[in-house]
Amino acid sequence: MPHAAFRSFINDHDDFLILSHIDPDGDAIGSSLGLYWGLRSIGKTATVANESPVPTNLRFLPGSSDIRVAKDLPGESRAVFVLDSSSLDRVGPTALKRIAPGADVACVDHHAGTDGFGNPRLVNMDASATAELIYEILEDYGMPIAPEIAEALYTGIASDTGAFRFRNTTPRVLRLAARLVERGADPSRTADSLYGRKSPASLRVLGLALASLEARAGGKVSALTISRAMFEEAQAGPEDADGIVQYAQAVNGARVGVLLQETAPGEVRISFRSDGSIDVNLVAGRFGGGGHRNAAGARLRGELSVVRESVLQALEQAVNGGPPAPRG
Ligand code: 5GP
Ligand code: MN
Repeated sequence: MPHAAFRSFINDHDDFLILSHIDPDGDAIGSSLGLYWGLRSIGKTATVANESPVPTNLRFLPGSSDIRVAKDLPGESRAVFVLDSSSLDRVGPTALKRIAPGADVACVDHHAGTDGFGNPRLVNMDASATAELIYEILEDYGMPIAPEIAEALYTGIASDTGAFRFRNTTPRVLRLAARLVERGADPSRTADSLYGRKSPASLRVLGLALASLEARAGGKVSALTISRAMFEEAQAGPEDADGIVQYAQAVNGARVGVLLQETAPGEVRISFRSDGSIDVNLVAGRFGGGGHRNAAGARLRGELSVVRESVLQALEQAVNGGPPAPRG
């Protein structure tokens, strides 16, 4: 029973490092902070860190200002939780070095095709978010769900279900969300922070990205591109581009939307979103990335226009290749 193994893992250590994937989203940060507050409530010490800074729209979460950037961590940790990451290296190169050789590493994740790292492990692809699994661990341990935990876990679930719109929005998820609201999560404030409020830089970069809209495969594939020059013109960075991929997927008739961002010279970050008729986890996998059936990503080295062409060709092939795969 994985939950019992987590009980022992928590009991056996006093000081934990909590890591999640590079370029963290609401689930990475929300599940990290939910666990952080839970561990603190039973008298443990915990540090939350990430390769990248916390995105602005998640800084409303209690405890987010305690989160460290991995490069500022003083030493290595011997007891580490790695959350929402399908492989250990997803935490990023600097964060990876903060895990001591021979450290005990626990894995909590809900991605397809996790590579088997970590002991104990709680990996469930049916979970809408890693935050759901953190809730299970805290509840099993008997930790009370305080308001700051509820808010963090609710944010993780709201983020990974696209505000309860994606296919992973099951009755179970809605029941858990309701329970978290009873414990102090605020749906209105969370939605406003996640989706309602935007920085001027993110609106400027959105405007430029929308103008790049390109349709392929008769409109079944829809692409947005943000070059370095566009980031510079908007005085924005990749952290301001969060959520833009949804506009590619929003075009009528698009089965798959893709956003290509030139994050550094010769470095391209790709985000895929699918209506479920094609599995973008498989497409991302062909480029060394991964994720889920409906949402996936990859990072590639190469010139932006070259990378874009090969990604668009792979997507055209996927939408044209045989009958649509079963939805779900
Ligand atoms: P996003 O497009 O929001 O960055 O990511 C969508 C999903 O794909 C998330 O579940 C994320 O964890 C996963 N993902 C994004 N980029 C990568 C990547 O480079 N490698 C892997 N394995 N998964 C990724
Ligand atoms: Mn997640």
